[in-house]
Amino acid sequence: MKTPAGRECPHFYGNYFRGRNDEECRLLQVHGQAWTRDLCKTCPVPDIARANSCQHMQLKVTVERPITAIFQRRVQVSAFCEKVNQAVSEPQIGCGKCHDLPFKFEIKE
Ligand code: SF4
Repeated sequence: MKTPAGRECPHFYGNYFRGRNDEECRLLQVHGQAWTRDLCKTCPVPDIARANSCQHMQLKVTVERPITAIFQRRVQVSAFCEKVNQAVSEPQIGCGKCHDLPFKFEIKE
């Protein structure tokens, strides 16, 4: 569903049926964080979801106020792979364990 910022996010829920205006971020809700519409504008989750749809990767989100954005709260994301039980440093790419190349290139001189 499209967020208030206009990007597709699998965790956003909006119910506008018959004049309702219920909106929530179910990812932040699961992690006990308060959601406000402005967070979607800078949130990295839609880009991560578009780049990597791995079913084993779990995202953990917190809302923080980084030093570089003194007055603006932002969603901070960390990722964890449940298949290999390790943190994923680049969520857009993934841990790389599922998609090894089936063969190796060797360059001989
Ligand atoms: S805050 Fe991030 S994860 Fe939550 S609905 Fe907005 S874009 Fe999606």
